[in-house]
Parts: sequence; C-alpha cells; structure tokens
Amino acid sequence: PCTEFDKAYFNSYAHVGIHEEMIKDHVRTNTYRDAIFHHQSLIEGKVVVDVGCGTGILSIFCAQAGAKRVYAVDASDIAVQANEVVKANNLSDKVIVLHGRVEDVEINEEVDVIISEWMGYMLLYESMLGSVITARDRWLKHGGLILPSNATLYMAPVTHPDRYRESIEFWRNVYGIDMSAMLPLAKQCAFEEPSVETISGENVLTWPHVVKHVDCYTITIDELESVTTTYKFRSMMRAPFHGFAFWFDVEFGGPAASLINPRVPVLPTVPSNNSPMDGSQRKKRTNPNEALVLSTAPEDPPTHWQQTLIYFYDPIDVEQDQLIEGSATLTQSKENRRFMNINLRYSSGGRSFVKESVMRKKVQS
Ligand code: SAH
Repeated sequence: PCTEFDKAYFNSYAHVGIHEEMIKDHVRTNTYRDAIFHHQSLIEGKVVVDVGCGTGILSIFCAQAGAKRVYAVDASDIAVQANEVVKANNLSDKVIVLHGRVEDVEINEEVDVIISEWMGYMLLYESMLGSVITARDRWLKHGGLILPSNATLYMAPVTHPDRYRESIEFWRNVYGIDMSAMLPLAKQCAFEEPSVETISGENVLTWPHVVKHVDCYTITIDELESVTTTYKFRSMMRAPFHGFAFWFDVEFGGPAASLINPRVPVLPTVPSNNSPMDGSQRKKRTNPNEALVLSTAPEDPPTHWQQTLIYFYDPIDVEQDQLIEGSATLTQSKENRRFMNINLRYSSGGRSFVKESVMRKKVQS
C-alpha cells in the first residue's frame, strides 16, 4: 500500500532541485550513459523498464541506444515533465511514460532490460531497491539484463579533526569567552544523526569492510529489511578515531552477461611459470567484460551521494595497529520504512560503546 510516507517521498521528487542535482552529478549520469552504450547489443531492439524515471533521462539514453520500447515509470509528478521531455524529443513512439508506482502500473509484456538509479545515501537509505526487485519479479525475462547488476556497501573507521575542531572545539573559546557549556548541545546537534559530507582518502584509518553485497538478480525484499555485519579493523595510523564512514559502489555487468557469453575461467589453465604474462595482463585477459563501476568512495571523484558519516560524541585515541571491532546493523525504520535505524557497536582499547542513530534526511538537499 502507498502510505503517507510514500506520498511525502514521491512529493520530494516532484521538485526540480533534486533532479538537477542528480543530473549535474556527471560521475553518476555519465557512468549510467556509458553503461547503457556498453551494453548496447543487449538493448538494441529490446524492451526496457526504467524504474523511477524522474525526468526521463535514462529512458532517453536507452532509446538513443536503440531500444524498441522503454517503459518509463515514476510515481512522482515529475512523470508529467518526463512525458513532455519525451514528446519534445520526438520519442513518444518509443518511450511510454507511466505515472504510477512500479508496484501498481500494468505492463503487458515481459521486458529484456531493467534500468534504475535507485541508490540512496549509504546505498540503502530510501529503500528504493525493493521496487527494483518488484519490477524484476513482475516483468524481467529469464536471462534479462539489470543495470546496475550489483552493489556493495562499505564502512571504515575515520579520523576527521577539522570537523571536530569546527563544530566542537570552537565553543571552547568564542571571542575570548569560555563557552564550553555549549559542548554537550553542540555534540548532540552535530553528531546525533548521520551526516552526509565529503571526506578524502586521508580521513580513512584503514581498508574498508564490506557491510553488504547486493546481487540485483537474486536479492530478495526480505533480505533488505535488516542488514547486520561484524567487523574487525586495525588502524593503520595513530590518530583520534572520530567515527565511521559508509559509502558504496555499483557495477554494470553481471550474471546476465555471463549467461549469454560463456564464463571465462578466472585462472589461466597454463602453469603460471610457463606463462609469458605478468599478473596484470592475466587479470585483463580473464576479465574481458570488465564491468563499469560507479564508485562513491572517498578516494574517488565526489558525487552527490558524498559519504555518510556516523560520528561519536567523543573521539577515541587509537595507536597504529590498534584493533577496532564490533558490529553494525542497518534496519528499515518501523515508523517510516524510508528511514533507517543504524545500530553501531564498537570496542577498542578495552572499552566498548553503542551508538544508535536514525537517518531521516530528506532526499532533496
Ligand atoms: N532515473 C532518474 C531519476 C532517479 S531518482 C535519473 O536517473 O535522473 C529516483 C526516482 O524514482 C524518483 O523520481 C522517484 O519518484 C522514483 N521512484 C522511487 N520509487 C518508485 C516506485 N516504487 N515506483 C515508481 N517510481 C519510483
């Protein structure tokens, strides 16, 4: 059923700002376009569904790549504009805009391709992936293509002294006045909720941990209700440990491609000492369909998703090689399934902590 919360959610996508932000995110939009043209042979002459078409941009890329028909579905009123854009580009014979939820609209044929830009902050915020799964189970042909094909959510411990100084330490001396009494409130306001911001590779204390890997061909809605992971990090630096960063990447390749082209063995069959190739060439050779990746990692070019940070109220000083361990649970909020509850447990240096937070950021920035 379409709840009040869903209505508010779809309303937020009726504003131009959110679409402008997404389209101006060139990393995002160019990677989608490249992926569509990379898989052109599987799109030409085929039927596509664009789950959450917004302004219709991905549907139009698919039409340009030669799709026979594209169903562009969006429950938000932005679908009205999508339809106008399609008409103005003389694509009304190919792109059919359906103004409704993918859960509700009728499409009276099977489709060859599903394309969708469903990723939220921390990948799973907004819970839109469930709608892609619904579309897949309603319409996708056996062996059809899903773009993106898989997604991975990562987490890593971070240090961010600048942020701590600006929002917290600042209150210790304000025009010569000791305003430390503000500290508890400042910490609560700055760090109670997850914060979406851009950090750099230098903020990250060690290699990331995979929180969840999603195969879009096989994932089920039930699996997404709650995701739990346990982690172990070893800080590569001595630093104040301020919290955890989350980010994701998605790949445009996957099992449908391997159904169509026989899978190439991962390891060379010749003994490696007889092989003239060095490791890098071997990797290239055995991975001819190297998948395109859209990454939102701190070391990669920034996107509108940035990274999601969960800060502690007080930093923990860690030594080089110090162990940081614990667990993270991400759960769709019962109050509003578009929101996300995040339960973090972490221990280091013999002390243990728990931090509970709720992500309820509006999608429109
Ligand atoms: N594809 C566009 C817009 C992506 S934003 C682009 O790449 O620019 C996601 C869009 O999905 C929003 O417009 C939102 O209204 C729509 N959406 C989310 N869940 C949906 C559902 N269940 N049914 C239909 N549309 C949905």
